[in-house]
Amino acid sequence: MKNTNRRIFIMQVAAGSSVLAASAAIAQATAPMVNEKDPQALALAYVANTTKVDAAKYPKHTSAQVCSNCQLYSGKPNEAAGPCPLFAGKQVAANGWCNAYIKKA
Ligand code: SF4
Repeated sequence: MKNTNRRIFIMQVAAGSSVLAASAAIAQATAPMVNEKDPQALALAYVANTTKVDAAKYPKHTSAQVCSNCQLYSGKPNEAAGPCPLFAGKQVAANGWCNAYIKKA
């Protein structure tokens, strides 16, 4: 009897973990995009399109620098947007850029 309860408990934990992982993936996929006018975005000079960066203001920026090849980006390779820890609960554009850009190693 004890083994049965333990087995049921383990199955419930496994099922719960799967539901949580799926929920997190859905929540991230439906997270809103960062608005360039948000205070945090303005503070970091975030733009959704790296070609729109003010070259005079950010002379070290190149158009090859995009969120999708930034160290902080955790989106999937072929998706148009993904998470960045600097914008919790939101998504940044894969072709975006901000002043905190760090080339992925
Ligand atoms: S830190 Fe990197 S991934 Fe995040 S917004 Fe800036 S460039 Fe994009």
